[in-house]
Amino acid sequence: MKKLGDFLISPDGSTEIVMGNTAIVRGMIESGVRVVTSYPGSPTPEIAAAITAIPKDKNPLYFEFSTNEKVATEVAFGASINGHLSTVFFKSVGLNVAADTFVQLGHMEIIGGMVIILGDDPGANSSQNEQDNRHYARLAYVPMLEPSTPTESYTMFKKAAQLSIERCMPVILRMTTHVCHAKEKVTFSSWTPLPLDHSSRFNVDNGPYIPLTTKLVLPLKRRALEKLAQFAADADTSSLNTVINNNNPLYGIITMGAPFQSLQDVLEEAALKPDILKLGIIHPLPKQLVADFLRQHKEVKIVEELDDFIEQQVKALAYDMDISTKIIGKQDYEEWLNEYTPEKVYTILQKVWPHLLPNKKPPTPLLHWSPRPAQLCPGCGHRSAFHAIKQALDPNDITVADIGCHTLGIMEPYNMGQVLLCMGHSSGTAAGLSLFNNSRKVVAFLGDSTFFHAGLPGIINAVFNHHNFTLILLDNGTTAMTGHQSHPGVGYNVNGSTEKIPIRRVLDGIGITNIREIDAYAQGQLTEAVKAALTEKGFKVIIAKHPCMLKAMRERSAAGKPLPPSVEITTDCNQNYTCVSTFACPTFQRNEDGSIIVHKDLCIGDGSCKQTCPTKAILHKRPKKEDNS
Ligand code: SF4
Ligand code: SF4
Repeated sequence: MKKLGDFLISPDGSTEIVMGNTAIVRGMIESGVRVVTSYPGSPTPEIAAAITAIPKDKNPLYFEFSTNEKVATEVAFGASINGHLSTVFFKSVGLNVAADTFVQLGHMEIIGGMVIILGDDPGANSSQNEQDNRHYARLAYVPMLEPSTPTESYTMFKKAAQLSIERCMPVILRMTTHVCHAKEKVTFSSWTPLPLDHSSRFNVDNGPYIPLTTKLVLPLKRRALEKLAQFAADADTSSLNTVINNNNPLYGIITMGAPFQSLQDVLEEAALKPDILKLGIIHPLPKQLVADFLRQHKEVKIVEELDDFIEQQVKALAYDMDISTKIIGKQDYEEWLNEYTPEKVYTILQKVWPHLLPNKKPPTPLLHWSPRPAQLCPGCGHRSAFHAIKQALDPNDITVADIGCHTLGIMEPYNMGQVLLCMGHSSGTAAGLSLFNNSRKVVAFLGDSTFFHAGLPGIINAVFNHHNFTLILLDNGTTAMTGHQSHPGVGYNVNGSTEKIPIRRVLDGIGITNIREIDAYAQGQLTEAVKAALTEKGFKVIIAKHPCMLKAMRERSAAGKPLPPSVEITTDCNQNYTCVSTFACPTFQRNEDGSIIVHKDLCIGDGSCKQTCPTKAILHKRPKKEDNS
């Protein structure tokens, strides 16, 4: 295989084994996308990794990580009304952040075209909920396509771009975790690179772009509805929807996306296969196509992950068109939950048509690993901070978590965080918890990337409305959880160096006077700072700072510098087990004979554990001076 960045921009066609996220990037290049924006979040980070793998001097895409999904959507929108095809991508709950902007897009003449890639997360593998973003497409009158394989991710991206340009409307490409990360041999077309066009085509006459007053808003809504109706009419004959005809007049299945692939596995050895209508266009529903499919079958089962989005529309359609086919939707709550793996689809079909299924259940995946709780990395500054903060808190105090690596503080043995909603909620929620509360202290946590993403409004509100709680900003100098992306506080972005916006200076600028800044490894100082802050009235901020050690160690390795020596347990160890039970660095392990060992291949030798041992039995050898540069 060619190098990733080279094949993505090669004018020649080729066949490569790639994941869905990578295949999409080739689709962007071939479609002539110019501007791509994002805020990092699983399951889509590999899209950014593929874009940044393209050599800078040959990359036709301008790419940025914006400060949040709303801003990313606005940058992509601005580029599009200026005439340049754009794409924005983010994770499922990112659409909630972008929603205020997103719901306007269907009303606008998006003259350059705009594709919104949504990484939905059935199974909530890396999200705080399992929301079904198909509802947003309906809410905002925006068409939505859904691929089921990496090949379809590539072809459907190109189709989405084409439709968006032709109709001057945004189009959503809904990916799900499985499709984003599945790998497959994808055959890519050749393409002709076009010279970069730097002209501005923004023209106010393409608007109106100011949706104010009923005189303007209602016509814009009418136009959005008309465009969507036209899209629906064309969807009836679109090749994006396919009927797999197994000559079965009794049973039919309507499905889409990843569940379609699972269904193929389940039915592979079935003697009598149902006919299948596979929808590539999820919204608007291709009504005539669906109606024809219903009329051709006695019973039709809807196999769709998450909510009953298609089911409700199909039932309404059958009612309106007087179709008597038995439509079988979700049978119980289990069908609303989790990814539709082959095993799950087998169980779902067994409830309604057991006689159609082969006796052989789909095989369970060969790779099976025991689930283990997520944990902070060895040497993580957050562990040190939580260990220190815990010493300062009363068990009755209330702690509010936020999103980031530091969310792991909610776990044993730290138990730091009893409430969690979404990115940046912690200051607002803590403010509410502190009202009509004169007995329990409230402590909120927030990460540095989230500070810039959605944390600031809650902080400003705390100042503006004189709230009474302590905010602990856990600053590790990166967006660690999603793969160490940059943020406005670090002085560089994906394109190179940029202005650094220090969090401290922002807080000073807001007028916060009660701020303490401490290295998260300085546990004694941090404990004392938290104790002091808790005795003070009003809004207090403590910045507990330490670089993400996973990133720091990787950079050290990449620079060819040896890792510091691991710590050692001396004979002073009296087996009180503070290191395993309270500090809980995963490097420490208790042997069957009760002794403690340090896993040398895990330990990064930072020594933050040393201060936690009551008998001083952890020996930390400082690295030689020349290695510590
Ligand atoms: S990635 Fe960095 S911040 Fe996240 S747990 Fe690991 S060391 Fe800590
Ligand atoms: S020095 Fe080793 S054992 Fe101690 S905290 Fe760091 S990684 Fe864990």
